[in-house]
Amino acid sequence: MTTNKNWRMETVAIHAGKEIDPTTGAVMPPLHLSTTYERKADGSYHSGFSYIRGDNPTRRSLEDALCSLEGGVCAATFASGMAAIMSVFQALRPGDHVLIPDDIYFGTRVMIDKLFTPWGLSSERVDMTDLDGVRAAIRPNTRLIWIETPSNPLLKITDIAATAAIAHAAGAILACDSTWPSPALQQTLAQGADLAIHATTKYLGGHSDLLGGAVIARQNSPFFDTVRMIQQTGGAVPSPFDCWLLLRGIRTLPYRMRGHCANAQRVAEYLSRHPQIEKVHYPGLPSHPGHAIAARQMSGFGGMLSIQLREDALRTGEQNARRMANRTQLFVQATSLGGVESLIEHRASIEGAVTNAPANLLRLSVGLEHVDDLIADLEQALADVVGLE
Ligand SMILES: *Cc1c(COP(=O)(O)O)cnc(C)c1O
Repeated sequence: MTTNKNWRMETVAIHAGKEIDPTTGAVMPPLHLSTTYERKADGSYHSGFSYIRGDNPTRRSLEDALCSLEGGVCAATFASGMAAIMSVFQALRPGDHVLIPDDIYFGTRVMIDKLFTPWGLSSERVDMTDLDGVRAAIRPNTRLIWIETPSNPLLKITDIAATAAIAHAAGAILACDSTWPSPALQQTLAQGADLAIHATTKYLGGHSDLLGGAVIARQNSPFFDTVRMIQQTGGAVPSPFDCWLLLRGIRTLPYRMRGHCANAQRVAEYLSRHPQIEKVHYPGLPSHPGHAIAARQMSGFGGMLSIQLREDALRTGEQNARRMANRTQLFVQATSLGGVESLIEHRASIEGAVTNAPANLLRLSVGLEHVDDLIADLEQALADVVGLE
């Protein structure tokens, strides 16, 4: 179905990439597991599909849906968020220079350091909230600026339109890892980014039961053609079943995001008043340094927040953070984010030695449970932290 450009996000999410199956009349798209497609006597194919890795109907529906959601013209989906990210860096050439955020997602940082630096890519980490610093870091061979907003785990907000202008003035591409806001909260391409990248494992899937990634482009370009070639030739593609699950998750994305935002706002406000909490990082709080930009470029502040715990007479902030994560009952102590269930994690110990996360920081993925139950859970976990033994 071609989506109507006047449709709101809720309508797009339900109808994108979907059409009545012409052979059976099925209202919901079937799952196509076939790896191969019959070739006719004249050499042509029934509907253009020949082999599963190159393209298949379930993946095509998903890519169409992602284009509609993100307002792009083409999308390539991958077996993981990291495979999607890798395709963008692989589409560059040895000798190219890229600017990356100082608080870049640690998996992407490890990939650049271990894989792309030895391959010949030069990269420079900059504070993307300092636009003069971004401008000053541009070199003649800068081909790409990579941003993530809100960032992980400090929820720093980067001005997409302003960094796009800097990139374009330098003849570079702006790529934005938009995993955290999802297309429901941030229309990344409409604000000037050339590529929106998603770990669809997170909010787009929404149920912590699939792994996937996507690159969505604002326009056709030789750069995107290379991303597509890497997808089809490299073969790090999602299975049809994962595409189908993802399409199922997408139908409820806008409603889920609304619930995540409302719950996270309440949790952030509660925690910012708690004496045991030193700092709450959530762009929905007016005290957050990126609040004004976030209010302009996002339609909601998202379901992710980080907190830093105070030290007290008994323990350091890190000890209190680890204790709190061990004591929540509803918030599951686990990595990842974006599912219907709430998660809490001590980020520094997940990331290991290369971490930039403060030792007393916990990252919360606020789920869709009743917010009063979530706050009660945090309250009892913190009461135990403060309590004397
Ligand atoms: C999870 C995540 C990734 C990596 O995605 P995978 O699907 O785990 O490979 C990349 N960027 C961000 C911001 C993420 O949260």
